[in-house]
Amino acid sequence: MAGIYGGLGVAGATVGLGIGGYTYAARWPGSQLFGRTLIAPRRPRELALTYDDGPNPAWTPRLLEILAEHNVRATFFMMGSFVKAERDLARRVLEAGHLIGNHTWSHPKLTAVSDAKVLEELTRTNDILSQITGKPARFFRPPFGARRPYVLKLARQLGLIPVTWNAMTSDWSETSADTIATNLMNKIDRNQRRGYASNIVLHDGNHRKLGADRGPSVSATQQLLERYAGSHTFVTLDAWQQ
Ligand SMILES: [Zn+2]
Repeated sequence: MAGIYGGLGVAGATVGLGIGGYTYAARWPGSQLFGRTLIAPRRPRELALTYDDGPNPAWTPRLLEILAEHNVRATFFMMGSFVKAERDLARRVLEAGHLIGNHTWSHPKLTAVSDAKVLEELTRTNDILSQITGKPARFFRPPFGARRPYVLKLARQLGLIPVTWNAMTSDWSETSADTIATNLMNKIDRNQRRGYASNIVLHDGNHRKLGADRGPSVSATQQLLERYAGSHTFVTLDAWQQ
């Protein structure tokens, strides 16, 4: 435990937390206990589409077409190992005007690996992303939302803004685009009623392998674009964090 949670003692706010509290703070996307993460501002008419676990040669190109048809830009949290395998596709995402963020090299749960491994995962991915984009990555989404004090401290030292979300459904396992879209619309509408923008997570890839089927997630995107195009503004995350 001491090795895994070596950073726990340095965060005064965590003293007295039971294991349940620690798990809550480490995994719950809204938890701010271990440090600030970007979720969504009080701009109820703004939506950020974000895509994790790509680039994926099987579905990212189709997703780019759909976004272009609606003249919408999104944020792509890419895995460094997939960028290495699909450099041209990562470049296409960038050239289409989308924002690219760091989603680690190999998608480990950062609460379960050493500090040295976290450092390697973030810096290796930063390096390959900067080769593609010509500038340092600014945004970072921890795999599974899992974070601990060292992860957030290191991210900030590397100039990365940690990002979670407030609209997600199990699109990685759901086969119905309608179900994915309906679940997300319910969350988007709830966020709006509460006065907040939505930071929407979908997956254009699968962290376990390149080439995964993400047809339902891409079709759900089409539905979200059609539903909200007239009433909301789609933004990339840099609109929320200048
Ligand atoms: Zn992921």
